Amino acid sequence: MPKLSEYIREKFPVDLVLGKVRHAIQFAEGGGIRALGLDMTAEDCQAMVDKVVLTPAAGNHRHVRFIGFDQERVDELGAGLDIALRMLEEARRNVGLHTWPGKTHYESIFGSRAWHGSSATRKAGVAAGNANAESGFASRASYVRAKIDQMMDDLRDPRWILYKSNEAGDAAALKGGRGGYLMAIGPAFPRGAVGHFHAGVLIHEVGHNLGLADVCGECQQHRQLLDAAHYAPRSDANIPQCTGNTPHGAMAASGKGHFIGSKQVKRLAEAHKNATIYNTDSYRWYCYAFFKNEVDAGISAHKALLQPA
Ligand SMILES: [Zn+2]
Ligand SMILES: [Zn+2]
Repeated sequence: MPKLSEYIREKFPVDLVLGKVRHAIQFAEGGGIRALGLDMTAEDCQAMVDKVVLTPAAGNHRHVRFIGFDQERVDELGAGLDIALRMLEEARRNVGLHTWPGKTHYESIFGSRAWHGSSATRKAGVAAGNANAESGFASRASYVRAKIDQMMDDLRDPRWILYKSNEAGDAAALKGGRGGYLMAIGPAFPRGAVGHFHAGVLIHEVGHNLGLADVCGECQQHRQLLDAAHYAPRSDANIPQCTGNTPHGAMAASGKGHFIGSKQVKRLAEAHKNATIYNTDSYRWYCYAFFKNEVDAGISAHKALLQPA
């Protein structure tokens, strides 16, 4: 018979996750710190794990494992992932739409289309000998379409673990890097019933899991992204990341640092459209654009609950 502590180490090899499982077992009914040292049958070990690692009771995300939440909260967050999926589906249908005069939701977030024939990217391609060179707008749309498809696929992955974090200031955060499938839900996660506003925060983190960045006006290696005159393809592993994530995020409110939030994301589309496709918050606000009433209601409820009583 294995010791419970050995059993969980084998099931949760990532230290950060193991720590959360151990902590939850200490406070679980029938658990406690002594339980970790006991020899138990594999079935009893698994029964203890099932008490503290929960999955949503309904919906499309019953494969996602949650640690540190009660079942009610797990069901709420699971429903939030379902909303995220529906938002991505709606956004996906509208990628690449353009209009004149004005802008589509897609153009507001990922940049306008040049007048027919005046795309700088197409002209550069033709000059380089490719008579069929694609416009930057078309190339960005292909990228965004593929990226949203990948996000929807990624949500189906059985490796996802969401855990409750007590790190001050964390709303949600991807831990363990790209492809880690590990998301912390922190004390700064939006208040109120989980809805479209919350789902957007989850979409932001799924983007990080695919390698998308918090594009940052301070980080020097982001200059090449921001100054790019033409569409430049990058692999997920090759998207530069902000090197001062928390401090640079704190500057976003003053229009510096991360291109995060509605105003900054639109500013990125106006001034640096070739960088938008690598900025994970651009995908959040693009999805929000199709559910404005729901998102505005979520933001209002969140703000009202933040007010000190
Ligand atoms: Zn981020
Ligand atoms: Zn930075």
